[in-house]
Order: sequence, then C-alpha cells, then structure tokens
Amino acid sequence: MRSYRLAVIAGDGIGPDVTAAALAGVEAVSRRFGFTVETTDVDLGAEAYLRTGEVLDEASQSTLAEHDAILLGAVGDPRVPPGVLERGLIVALRIAFAQSVNIRPVRLYPGVPSPVAGVHPGNCDLVIVRENTEGLYAGGGGLTHPGTPQAVALQNSVTTAAATTEAVEFSFRLAAARRGRLTLCHKTNILTHAGRLWQEVVDEVGARYPQVERDYVHVDAMCQHLPLDPGRFDVVVTDNLFGDIISDLGATIQGGLGVAASANHNPRGSAPSMYEPVHGSAPDIAGTGTANPAAATLSAALCLAGLGEHDAAVTLEAATASVLAELPALAGTAMGARTGELGERIAARAADID
Ligand code: ATP
Ligand code: MG
Repeated sequence: MRSYRLAVIAGDGIGPDVTAAALAGVEAVSRRFGFTVETTDVDLGAEAYLRTGEVLDEASQSTLAEHDAILLGAVGDPRVPPGVLERGLIVALRIAFAQSVNIRPVRLYPGVPSPVAGVHPGNCDLVIVRENTEGLYAGGGGLTHPGTPQAVALQNSVTTAAATTEAVEFSFRLAAARRGRLTLCHKTNILTHAGRLWQEVVDEVGARYPQVERDYVHVDAMCQHLPLDPGRFDVVVTDNLFGDIISDLGATIQGGLGVAASANHNPRGSAPSMYEPVHGSAPDIAGTGTANPAAATLSAALCLAGLGEHDAAVTLEAATASVLAELPALAGTAMGARTGELGERIAARAADID
C-alpha cells in the first residue's frame, strides 16, 4: 500500500482547529483511495517559542526533514514581536528545504461571494506562482546614520537565473497541464536588471513550451486586471515581493482568507514541501471555533497533489467546494459555520462525492 509521512505543525490560534479539519479530510480520502498517511506532530510556533525561547530548533528541523511533506496550520501570537516567526520559522524553512516556488491557486467556488463585482466562479480560476526565496526577501542591505536626517537604507534585491528558472519551469509545466497560458508579472520598465533576467528566462524556457501562450503584465497593471478581469489569467509567474502582494489581492477576489490555500514547493524533491493556508493565527477569533477550515483543507488537497495522489487531491477539493456551497444556508442554522462541524462535513463528503 502507498504510504506517506506527513509532519504537522498545527501552530497557534486557529491553527490547531483548521489543521484537525484538514487531517480529517486527508484521512477520508486516504481510506477511499487506498493509501496511508502517518502523521508526526511537530511543536513549533509562538507557543513553543514563548516556552523555549527558540524559534526553530535543530531537532525539530531534522524531524521535519525526514517527512514527505509538511502541513502547517498557522503560527503567530500578539506576544511575539512581528517578524520573529515569519523570518525565523516560515522563511527559514522555505530556504532550508529549498521551497523555491510558492503556489497560490486563486479560485472562486460556487456559493462563496467575491467582494469584487463581476467576479464569478466561471471566470476566476488561476494560479499565482511566486519565486519564494529571493528578490527583496534576500534581506541584504543596511541602514546608515539611523535616527538622523542623513539616514539612508539600502535593501538589496537578488535575482538569480537558477531560482528564476526553477519558478518559470514549474510555471510552464503547470500552464501546459492547465489552459496553456502563462503571464509574467514584473516591473521590467523600472527594475531593469532583474526584469531583463526574468524576461530572458521566460523566453528561453518558453521556447520549449510552444503550446503555452505567453504574455507580460506590469505589477501595477496587474492590480487592475486581476480584480476586473481574472478570467484572462491562467498561470501568473512573478517574483517574491510582487507575488506576496498580488496573492493577497487574489485571496480577496476569491472570497477572503477563509478559502485561500498555498504550497511552498520544492521542485527538486530534495526536501519536503510545505502546505499552509494563507491566513495567520487569527487571534481575534482564536478559541471561538468559527474559523473557516476550507483554506486548510484546500492546502491539504495541494499537499496530496504534491505527493502524487491526484485523485485524492481532486476529491478533497471537490468536497470542500461542495460544503462551501452550503455555507450560506448553514449560517442561519443551529450548527452555524463551526470549524469542527464543517471539517467533519468536508471529510464525510470526501468519502463519497462523485
Ligand atoms: P497573524 O499575525 O498570525 O498573521 P493576523 O492578525 O494577521 O494573524 P490573520 O490570521 O491573517 O490575522 O487574519 C486576518 C483577519 O481574517 C482576522 O480578522 C481573522 O479573524 C480573519 N480570518 C483569518 N482566517 C480566517 C478563517 N479561516 N476563517 C474566518 N476568518 C478568518
Ligand atoms: Mg496575517
């Protein structure tokens, strides 16, 4: 029987609740499609940091490294200064495990309202592929004369052919398997050096994918096109910072953080990929049991796809979509929209949906 080892960082706030829902969904499809998933809980996140003073200890990192994939709930806590967990844990894992590609499907499911007029399920189905390790996130630079009128901050951006090629290769393969359209999103008219390298890589790799239609959109123009006409995009490939920004725009048009899933993908397979909902620990609703688990179950579906369990992935996504379609009706009932119940409903649906 096919068998996978999944490391689980449930994390903080709503993380454990939505992760439980995601694991129930994985369990249901693994039984249905005849494979097993063995899980290991890894205690990382704000609670662990506040207890131990360490963000990412060596033992936890080697445990994670031994697994086929990592499922992350959410990490964060108002008591932890901003950046400590983002840089020390999430970005550190992306780099340590060569998760050079961030995958952000932007899909509007029936029954989920988009706040943007004119966006409907039929015209909102694209994937943003973000280079995940470089650009301005490389972090080099410095601040001279801090606190004075002479202060100057330099923030370096790094773009290598190697990392860019990995993201672009992945994007062309994905586009070829989807609707055959790839858009490069950048700011090549201003960021001329990095922009030229991105365009050269897209042209070079694109030559091997003649069946994929290519175009280019500046990131500022993207902020207009994406909400007004998402249907024109299939796969959008972009750099780290632009990807961060347009992914949030994508999450908004697809109905919000409750439904936005992501993968931090290692295209070489040299270390585990990590799958996580886009939302954070949501301290404002933590403990209320009202978090939407869909972002987490959809992230688990991406995880199954990454493990090669295509049918299971499609089924878990379909089950999630089917339950999301019932949400407006459930909202007024005694059950309401409770994380645990929705998770059970998604898992039950995953067990028998066509
Ligand atoms: P963190 O610092 O961990 O990122 P945050 O304060 O940025 O936390 P997010 O988790 O990013 O909070 O959430 C932003 C807003 O979206 C909050 O009001 C939160 O309640 C809401 N939200 C996030 N995830 C969900 C969800 N799964 N279901 C419902 N509401 C959510
Ligand atoms: Mg946040």
